[in-house]
Amino acid sequence: MLSGKRALVTGGGTGIGAAIARALMTAGAEVIIAGRRAEILHQAADALGLSRDACLVLDVTDAASIAAAAETLGAVDILVNNAGQAASAPFRKSDIALLDAMLDVNLRGTWRMTQAVLPAMTKRGWGRVINIASAHGLTASPFKSAYIAAKHGVVGLSKTTALEVAGQGITANAICPGYVLTPLVEAQIPDQMQVHGMDRDTVIREVMLLRQPSRQFATVEQIGGTTVYLCSPAADQVTGTTISVDGGWTAL
Ligand code: NAD
Repeated sequence: MLSGKRALVTGGGTGIGAAIARALMTAGAEVIIAGRRAEILHQAADALGLSRDACLVLDVTDAASIAAAAETLGAVDILVNNAGQAASAPFRKSDIALLDAMLDVNLRGTWRMTQAVLPAMTKRGWGRVINIASAHGLTASPFKSAYIAAKHGVVGLSKTTALEVAGQGITANAICPGYVLTPLVEAQIPDQMQVHGMDRDTVIREVMLLRQPSRQFATVEQIGGTTVYLCSPAADQVTGTTISVDGGWTAL
């Protein structure tokens, strides 16, 4: 379905990004994975069966690094802005530097990357901008003010991008995952079991997924599948919106 399309996935070396890369490859796209560390990208490329030439070392917080990458990159048809970081701290004790850091990677990174690839999409008359926001782009939880502010910004930027290219064959949307079982989340489970004195299933259901009504994690494959859907002809008129993959969290 996506043969002849070139996709760039930021943060494509780990977790959700690597699964999105796999799903896009399976759908026939040529995939480039971008991230800060070559060795992580190389490991992911080997696991995905991608050539190491498909690894792009790039820091989304660094405009010069993006400009240098853009020179060698060529046209991108599908941009997945997945690179992100999260942080937790009580708002009253949060330094403005924390907000800057969260905005820089999650929001400004998405801004910079989208600006870098949009002109070529416009010229070619086809493009998909898919921003991996979060349930925290639509709703809030305590102690995550900087992350939540940044992810709400990503949702707003996705909508504005969509409006400015509407009718030109380009769509822009945000996927808003709830809690996804990535290696990072998996690694937290033993600690949580110990802290709460619960078995694995109970700690997942009663502690980690308290806000997720299905009481099941979303999977990285489901986020990959949603990304492929947004690239499909069925989604040609799906633009400027959010798709929640959150087990009902934002319906509460
Ligand atoms: P992850 O830490 O495995 O992925 C984040 C990726 O972004 C990593 O590969 C990291 O190297 C890369 N990255 C971070 N800063 C970067 C920078 N400055 N430049 C380039 N790359 C950078 O975690 P994940 O769970 O796979 O998260 C992927 C995205 O999904 C993030 O945007 C995250 O906010 C979002 N998300 C995750 C969950 C979840 O439960 N895992 C839920 C909602 C949203």
